[in-house]
Amino acid sequence: VIVTPICAFHDNYIWLLKSEHSNACVVVDPGDASPVLTAFSAQNLQLSGILLTHHHADHVGGVEQLLQHFPVDVYGPKGTSPHLTHLVAEGDLIELPAIDASFHVLELPGHTLDHIAYYGEECLFCADTLFSLGCGRLFEGTAEQMVSSLNKIKQLPVDTALFPAHEYTEANSQFALCVEPDNKALLERQAEVREKRSENQPTLPVLLEMELKTNPFLRCDQIKVLQSAEQYVGHDLRSEVEVFAGIRGWKDEF
Ligand SMILES: [Zn+2]
Repeated sequence: VIVTPICAFHDNYIWLLKSEHSNACVVVDPGDASPVLTAFSAQNLQLSGILLTHHHADHVGGVEQLLQHFPVDVYGPKGTSPHLTHLVAEGDLIELPAIDASFHVLELPGHTLDHIAYYGEECLFCADTLFSLGCGRLFEGTAEQMVSSLNKIKQLPVDTALFPAHEYTEANSQFALCVEPDNKALLERQAEVREKRSENQPTLPVLLEMELKTNPFLRCDQIKVLQSAEQYVGHDLRSEVEVFAGIRGWKDEF
């Protein structure tokens, strides 16, 4: 399967998954139909399915209009869209023969309570749970839920390609460097990200291996992240969840 981004709104990516053998495609989180339809007519593509990760409008807003052009199956967790044909939950395996791919469903509550990710073909479509060098805001879930969701991602093979739904990497790198100013891998990643953005190129996907070295929200067990979080909140922190909550709150004010 070939994965490419379709830009939507200000900084969203709608991920387009195309068969290597035909014009069949699946899209993840089409918040807006028009850029998808434009890409489809330009490349003569045929939609064969829609995957949804959570109920936010910038992820599901284009579903109805796409269905008017392509009456296809829609997969997602309960409540994401009135047009769901397949309710999915933890452990489900979704087979998409049209694009020759299959994906496991991971439940990742935190950003919202319904948030899921699709894992397969060495890719993780993690939407607003994990960004490069950042993570989603806690709109519905608790810090504890988010830490357990991020730990689930940390268990995946390190060569998994991560496909978040937003281009936030450059801004996130500034915050990440406040948490870990001496992290060499992070300094190198920031330089690479700045170069890509200056050429208007996406910074995604990114390998899990890179995020494990550079994303402070995946590094709450590291002493430097603990120390920076304690300095910000002004008292001792006793667990990974407390460290996570400390830097999440810091980022919200950043
Ligand atoms: Zn969201």
